Order: sequence, then structure tokens, then C-alpha cells
Amino acid sequence: MTIDELIPLAPREPAITADVPTTGPLTDGFGRLIKNLRISVTDRCNFRCTYCMPEEGLVWLNRDDILSYEEIERLTRIFVAIGVEEIRLTGGEPLVRRDLPVLIEKLSVMESLTSLSLTTNGFSLKQMCGDLVAAGLQRINVSMDTPVREKFKHITRRDALPQVLEGLEECEKYPQLSPIKVNAVAIRDFSEEDVLAFAELARRKPYIVRWIEFMPLDADGQWERKDVLTGAEIRAIIETKYELVPTSDDRIATAQRFRFADGKGEVGFINPVSEPFCETCDRIRLTADGQFRTCLFSTWETDLRAPLRSGANDAEIERIIRAAVWRKEMKHHVNDPGFQPASRSMSQIGG
Ligand code: SAM
Ligand code: SF4
Repeated sequence: MTIDELIPLAPREPAITADVPTTGPLTDGFGRLIKNLRISVTDRCNFRCTYCMPEEGLVWLNRDDILSYEEIERLTRIFVAIGVEEIRLTGGEPLVRRDLPVLIEKLSVMESLTSLSLTTNGFSLKQMCGDLVAAGLQRINVSMDTPVREKFKHITRRDALPQVLEGLEECEKYPQLSPIKVNAVAIRDFSEEDVLAFAELARRKPYIVRWIEFMPLDADGQWERKDVLTGAEIRAIIETKYELVPTSDDRIATAQRFRFADGKGEVGFINPVSEPFCETCDRIRLTADGQFRTCLFSTWETDLRAPLRSGANDAEIERIIRAAVWRKEMKHHVNDPGFQPASRSMSQIGG
């Protein structure tokens, strides 16, 4: 099979004609080194955040179509062998998948992995945190869009703020779990009034609070540019009360990081819409059903499950991965005329 038969060309990207490298570190056609893999373990979720999922009616993947932990382990080994150093488990809600610590244990023993982390809505953390850490989890991001219970209920369609706060407190008991990050999606006319309360949370607790700009990845297709509250706007609100100082970070930064000038706490801004960071993007994604994506906004995917289940050896799968990575999108097109939404919504891709 030729590469072109294996991978449909991204409709908006130019064909890259140079040969796909067959050895060496995992690199795309624009010279970006790829080190960061996000693995979605399920498309299901116990919340229904308005900016992510519809209230009802989303069609779930069949169980048989979802990669087993053994399949994820095998693919991860291949990715790690060719240069992936950081793994984040996500979903849907990863904690609704049974026995998640079993997967974490399998991944945590992989040498040359420098980071094993989880993104969760936090609902089940109080019960599960100990097992996750014992299995080898190193870092955690908990999504919490507002510290106000009524607003939380409105945006997640679940009255679950107390459980999420308890889950965060549970994380504090495990010094091995560091850093603890709290991520809030920033939406205009919703998030502004919470900004200072979140800043105070970041000062009072050992949590790094980060705001993520609302992206056009909602299943309802309701996203409008005017709803994007930018990181710069949030920063300006914080600076009405506190002085912020940029912090340096030698890792490829998706977040702009700041500490409070008096040394108490840190906040961050992830601004994919107002200040895209595609040029340094080192991320790739594997969906729960084994589809490989090279951009959150990809309009094409590469099936890794089919070769995996039809007996392909590791070298063959590596070749498919390298060829797909080679065609990683130069950038997302959210700010371009005629932007085409991604082929799936956030919970189906794995945020
Ligand atoms: N369920 C877990 C959670 O909520 O943390 C993991 C999956 S969720 C899809 C991953 C992250 O994507 C969350 O922080 C969520 O807030 C974010 N997210 C979902 N839809 C988004 C959107 N349309 N724009 C920006 N961020 C979004
Ligand atoms: Fe579920 Fe996370 Fe999407 Fe909210 S953002 S609906 S918690 S997958």
C-alpha cells in the first residue's frame, strides 16, 4: 500500500512531497518534533458541559470499537520508542472507564516517559486519587469552570461542584502528584465575574489555575467568536487587583504562565484562538476508538485500530504513524475565512 492510500490527504493542507523519514525522532513535515501524546480512553462522560457535549443524543462508540488497555499499551510503546515523552490520559471522562489504574500502571513503567498525566472533571477523584497515584500517575489537570455552585450546575448540567472541590483536596494529600492544575474554559458573559475568585484560589491553594479560550469544538455547534473571552482580557481583570510576573518555562509552552508578584501562586492562559501556538505544537492524539489525529481541528484521521487488529507488526504501525505525523497540519484555521469545524467534538476527540 502506498502512503497516499493509507492516509487521506487533509483537504486544506498542501501535499508534502518530501519522503517520510523512516528512522529518527518523530518529526512532522514542518520540522516540529512530536513529543506529546494525548490518549482518550472513552468518549463517555458523567457531565454534559454545554461547550462540549449535547444534553442528550450523542451516539456512543460501541464497546468493541474501543481500544483495550493492552492495545493502548502496545500503541504507546511504539509511540514512545520513536520519541513521544509525555502522555496525557483524557476522554470523555477518563475516570468513568473501569479500572483506569490498570492502564496507568502499564504506562508508568515505560522508560523514557518524562510525564504521565490525567485530565479529569474531578467528580470521582476523591474515591480514586489514591489508586491513580499508586499506579504511577504523576500530574493532574482538573477541569472546573466556575467556583460558584449554581453556575457550575448550569455549565456542566450537573450539581457537582462539592465533589470536584473534594476531589481537588484529595489530590493535595499526595505530594507525588504535582503540579495540580485547575482548568477553566473562559466564556464571555459567564467567566468574567469568577476571574478574581479563581485568582484567589490559586493564591490560597497549591493549584495552578489556567484559563482556556473557548474553541469551536462543541458538539452543539454553538460556538461564536464573540463568546471567546481572551486570555489577555482575563489577565487584565486579574491585574486590576494583583501584579503578575511572567515565569519562564523551557518546555514547549501552550500556556503563558505568570506568578503573583508577592510569590503566592501561579496562573496560566491557554489562548489557542487569540494567540495560536501551532508553530511549536508538539501534540498528537489517539481517540478511544483508535483513530490517530495530528491536530485538535483535524478534518481527517488515520485508523490505527484496523492495522492493530489485523496483525500488523510494530514496524508497519510505526510507518503509518510516521506518515500521518509527517502530514500534521501547519496550523488550525479557526481564524481563517471558511473555517471548517473538526470532524468530531471535543469529548469524542479527547481534549
Ligand atoms: N472530561 C475531562 C475534563 O473535562 O477534564 C477530560 C476531557 S475534556 C474534553 C478536556 C478539556 O477540554 C477540559 O478541560 C474541557 O474544559 C476542555 N474543553 C471541552 N470543550 C472545549 C471547548 N469547546 N473549548 C475549549 N475547551 C474545551
Ligand atoms: Fe465531560 Fe469533560 Fe466534556 Fe465536560 S468537558 S462534558 S466533563 S468530557
